This record gives sequence, C-alpha cells and structure tokens, in this order.
Amino acid sequence: MGDTTNIEWADHTWSPWIGCTKISPACDGCYAAHLMDTRLGRVEWGPHGERRRTSKSYWRRLAAWDADARRAERMATVFPSLCDPFDNAVGVDLRLEWFVEIRAYPNLLWLLLTKRPQNIVRMVKEVGFMPPNIAFGTTCEDRKRVETNLPHLMVAAGLRPKFLFMSAEPLLEDLGDLTPWLGGDANTSEGRFERGIKIGDDGWPVLPALGQVITGGETDQGAHKARPSRYDWYRNVRDQCAAHGTPYLHKQNGVWVEIPKYRLGDPGEIVWPDGAVGRGNANEHGGAGVLMRRVGKKAAGRLLDGVNHDGFPVVPARPASLAPPQTAGAIP
Ligand code: SF4
Repeated sequence: MGDTTNIEWADHTWSPWIGCTKISPACDGCYAAHLMDTRLGRVEWGPHGERRRTSKSYWRRLAAWDADARRAERMATVFPSLCDPFDNAVGVDLRLEWFVEIRAYPNLLWLLLTKRPQNIVRMVKEVGFMPPNIAFGTTCEDRKRVETNLPHLMVAAGLRPKFLFMSAEPLLEDLGDLTPWLGGDANTSEGRFERGIKIGDDGWPVLPALGQVITGGETDQGAHKARPSRYDWYRNVRDQCAAHGTPYLHKQNGVWVEIPKYRLGDPGEIVWPDGAVGRGNANEHGGAGVLMRRVGKKAAGRLLDGVNHDGFPVVPARPASLAPPQTAGAIP
C-alpha cells in the first residue's frame, strides 16, 4: 500500500479495496492474504470475507502521482496488489468510483492483473466506459491457465487497452508452446479493420498478441513455503518472447536456485520436469531432474543466465498540453 513499490515492474502499488478469494494454484501463496494475516490484519480473506474500500486520504495520493508523472513527461505505472480488479464479490458502484479516478489521471498507466479474466468485458461494460490508460493482464502459472485464461484476455482486447500482458508468476510448470499468443500482429494499426477488429487475409479476425510477458518464482508467505520454478521453464518463455519480439520481464527467481553440476546426495531437492519435488529415483523422467536449493529471495536474485530482463511495452507519455479527457473512453 506504500507510495512507491519494490515490485520490480510498477512505479506504485495502490488498491481501491482490500480483500479477495483464492481461486487458483497461484493464490496458494497470496502475498496480500498473508499481509492481512500478519502485519495489517484488517481484512478477512475468502468468499464470505469483506472487501474493504481504502481510505479517502489514500485515494488522494493518485493526484500527486499523476502530477509527478506529467512533470516527468512519462506514464507512471500503478499496480493494485491487495485485490483482484475483477473480483465477483465487488459490485459495480465501487468499481465505477475507481474507474472515474483512473480516467481523471491520464498520466497513470494501470496494470490490471486478474485471475478472473472472464469478468473483464462484462464488468467494464457495467461501469459504462473504458478509460484509455489501462493495460489488462492475467496470471498463467501453468498450462491449464494458459488454455483457460488467455482466450478471455484476448476478448478483452476489444476494449482497446494500452496492451495485454500475461504474468507467469509463480511459474509452476513448463508452459509449452505460446506461439498462438505471441504471434499475432493485431497490435499494429496497418491492415483491414471491421468494427475495430483487425481482419486477416483469410477473412478471419486476427488474434491480438500479448504485449508483454512476465515470469517469476514464488516466495514464502507464512506457513506457505515457496514452490521451486525450474530455470528451463523460464528459459522457454524467454526464448519464445525473443523469437516474436515480445517484451519479456523476469521479476525474480523466488527463493530457490538451480545447482548446475551436482552429485546425488548433495544438499537440495531434485525438481522433476512435471514440478514434482523430492529425491525420487534418478531414472524417473529419464533422469531429467535438476537440483535446486533454497537460498532466500535476496540470494536467488533475478538474473536469468546472467542477464536482467526488464522488457516493457513502449507506451508514449501523454503530451503535457492535453487536458484530461472529458468524453474519451466510451466502450468501442
Ligand atoms: S486473486 Fe490475487 S489477491 Fe486474490 S487471492 Fe489470488 S493471489 Fe490473492
């Protein structure tokens, strides 16, 4: 909830309300739920838990951040870290109040990451307008979520967000072939459009493409101990992004590091290609286990093969001379 964030990919964290319900394996180590359990202790998590609106003085911070960004002639990014923007338990009134603020501060770029992408279009339509300074993202920690969440995210492209992004954090298995989600060229303005949808040479709509992909490992949250993410899972995402020119950001390695050369019996855990953890039998899975060791977040760092990955889509700053939009943002 601080003014600035040490989250590697956003300038600020800010949440219109606090509270949520765990719905996905990635939620097992929910940072916000743990924060409520320990330090803040103000909101009960879960389907019957409350969703508490943050204070009026906290909401006023947005004006200062917007003014700073305007002076710096750059868009400042804001990430809601203590809620899911498209939570079913939050009604339209609060979301409308929030979207009015989003539209009022055009130098802030909102990174709306959700585990409920199936709700995006319906809930934005309930609000009644789409602010122009939003990027939509969804979490895909495993292949199942790639198959279920990304199609919903692509539909939300019709609302004309600044870009779409996928967060594979915590990455819990290899995500396989991401080509269908990286390869589209619907993000360019060239070509034929019908009612705002780009149409390919074959007459079918061109799939939008992800404008950014993020990976990361898991950290401990109270009783929940971080699960390891193999480096070859990260590398697969990194290399596919490179092949398609998609900005790639690797947030951090979690608390585990890979030990490249080891002998059985060395300290650590064998992590198998399917994510299973344990010594097991070296012949299982063709002997394809890697040795990983818990070293903590700081020591694990965020280098992947010696490189920091900080890819972010180009989002031009809003010209300072422009007044805040009064009518812009109607749903296309
Ligand atoms: S959706 Fe996000 S905020 Fe909600 S429980 Fe899951 S990780 Fe936590």
